[in-house]
Amino acid sequence: MGSSQSVLTDTSAANSYYDYIIVGAGAAGCVLANRLSEDPAVSVLLVEAGKSHVDELKTKIPMTFPQVFKTQIDWAYETTPQQNVSGRRFFWPRGKLLGGSTSINAMMYHHCAPSDFDEWTADAPGWSYAALRPYFRKAEKYAGHELHGDVDVSHRGNEGLWQTSHAPRLDVCNDCLQSCRNVGIPYSSDFNTPKGTLGCNHMTSFCDAKGHRSSAATAYLSPILASRPNLHIVTMTSTTRLIFSPLSSVPKVMGIEVARTPVAGKPPSEQRWIINARREVILSAGSINTPQLLMLSGIGPKDELDKLGIPLVKHLSAVGQNLSDHLMTGGISFRAAKPGTTLDYLSNPANTLLPLAQWLLTGGGVLTNMIGAGAAFVRSDDPGLPFESKASKGLETTDETSGKDAPDLELVWAPLAFLDHGFKTAPTGTEVFSLVATLLRPKSLGSLSLVSTDPFEKPRIDANYFAHQNDVNVLIKGVRLCLRIARSRPLFNRLNLRSDNTDKDDVFWLGDADPDKVTDDEIHEWLKKNVETLYHPIGTARMGSSSESSVVNPTLRVHGVDNLRIVDASILPYQLSGHTTAPVIAIAERASDIIKGEYTGTAAAKANYAF
Ligand SMILES: Cc1cc2nc3c(=O)[nH]c(=O)nc-3n(C[C@H](O)[C@H](O)[C@H](O)COP(=O)(O)OP(=O)(O)OC[C@H]3O[C@@H](n4cnc5c(N)ncnc54)[C@H](O)[C@@H]3O)c2cc1C
Repeated sequence: MGSSQSVLTDTSAANSYYDYIIVGAGAAGCVLANRLSEDPAVSVLLVEAGKSHVDELKTKIPMTFPQVFKTQIDWAYETTPQQNVSGRRFFWPRGKLLGGSTSINAMMYHHCAPSDFDEWTADAPGWSYAALRPYFRKAEKYAGHELHGDVDVSHRGNEGLWQTSHAPRLDVCNDCLQSCRNVGIPYSSDFNTPKGTLGCNHMTSFCDAKGHRSSAATAYLSPILASRPNLHIVTMTSTTRLIFSPLSSVPKVMGIEVARTPVAGKPPSEQRWIINARREVILSAGSINTPQLLMLSGIGPKDELDKLGIPLVKHLSAVGQNLSDHLMTGGISFRAAKPGTTLDYLSNPANTLLPLAQWLLTGGGVLTNMIGAGAAFVRSDDPGLPFESKASKGLETTDETSGKDAPDLELVWAPLAFLDHGFKTAPTGTEVFSLVATLLRPKSLGSLSLVSTDPFEKPRIDANYFAHQNDVNVLIKGVRLCLRIARSRPLFNRLNLRSDNTDKDDVFWLGDADPDKVTDDEIHEWLKKNVETLYHPIGTARMGSSSESSVVNPTLRVHGVDNLRIVDASILPYQLSGHTTAPVIAIAERASDIIKGEYTGTAAAKANYAF
């Protein structure tokens, strides 16, 4: 290799050939870059459209991630107007820097439900929970916590690169947990064990011992930057298309075309470079950019490519389809009874100076709290929970869970206002405790398509939210459960609920509403104005056995295309019932063994992916 520095800020400094080229340094790409470059005999290039994470202070402090939305390190996507949600366009942030979305996310660590993975095995043999479980543990370095002595650490990893721990919590969060239990939600000592994820507790955070975010970049790249001359990471470099061999009868990827990533205010450069892969190219550009790149390269639905005059390389109708996202209610805001209950004071920049100084000096203090502080994973058909209401006309819901021990609703609590992704703060003079209900297993599926052949033009994203009444009904049930939790002691004692609030435009209107008086239609109308993404789009290059209904096979190779694999959230065949980072990291850990096994043929590696 020409350079001994792993991180190349100059695109032209990259070599012409590498054994592996990985596109996208997010959750999956960072894992692959680390694991594949463990073999000093192979060369690896990791290509990232964004910049380095190293100087991005707000990505390191657990509480400040919303402050990077719509900045240079956010792709800041937007959906098409959503016809079932008042025609609203939805803002979809995605990380555009080393670490990808793991550098800007809410740091909620979660394995999801074991049956989420077992349901894949029907069409993707080998991808069971049992197969992934060792990789969840391989990835993690869990630091216990005195308040979580009931975690059975034998289920958790302690030698991995990715650091997890527990955040401090406010009294109001402890009370919310108790109120969840008081309405009938069982306490779970740990959401991340084979027994499943139903129950309530404070969340585990991916935070390191210094109080800093442990992203895929800090975990998997930072420790090896000086010690892996066989790994190059090139930043501010966008992959614009795949390059195919002109000699092969079957489409065969030879490499990639790249360009400098355009910077706002400057004209984009026309210059392009070609970088070749001796073994293969692995797309890890995430659920939006991976299908976009496939289609720009001629892999996708023929009719879509024809519309833009893109020469067809391989017709795969599932590219860009099967888009599934977690829709959440938006913050249901409850007025705190007394000042000093929540962290809303941090929205005043003057109030952050001392906490920032404390965090910089010690890595501790209020800035290490989690915004998504705790959660309850429940089933909307659980007869033991108070979903019913005198005001409801009776909500029919079908079981969309992945198994009898898996949830279809997650309630998250936050010790501050979480309105419009954090762009709006608590009304002056108030403090807000927020509860959010999330639809974990939506029936509504969306799609993604190209607008033009320009790689820098954002694709058209149609989330197709609320296309199924079932999704609406499950979320209405979730809202009522949140209202009942807020009316249950001890949380109730910390809130000031005003039953005379009739102003439906008031931030507190739904929180104030009596679950036995507010109607299904009123909640539905509120949802149409307030639902938001929980930032988990998946499925746009789904894994499966058939090229008619999927994009990659169970070894994550693209159907009918040689030397091309996909490893990121786009390969998930179905939506997970929880948070997506830990599963994507476990998938990438396993994919690394699959890839190594294919090239080295070692028995140990092969055993890991015996299908
Ligand atoms: C605001 C937010 C909050 C979230 N909160 C949580 C949470 O609390 N817990 C949780 O588990 N999950 C959370 N998630 C989801 C989680 O972060 C993602 O599911 C996960 O990071 C997906 O991993 P990925 O590898 O598929 O993509 P990403 O991590 O998004 O990485 C893709 C990478 O590819 C790069 N890239 C894209 N196109 C190109 C190109 N053409 N050339 C070169 N590079 C390219 C991108 O810049 C990016 O670095 C959140 C996500 C967001 C955005």
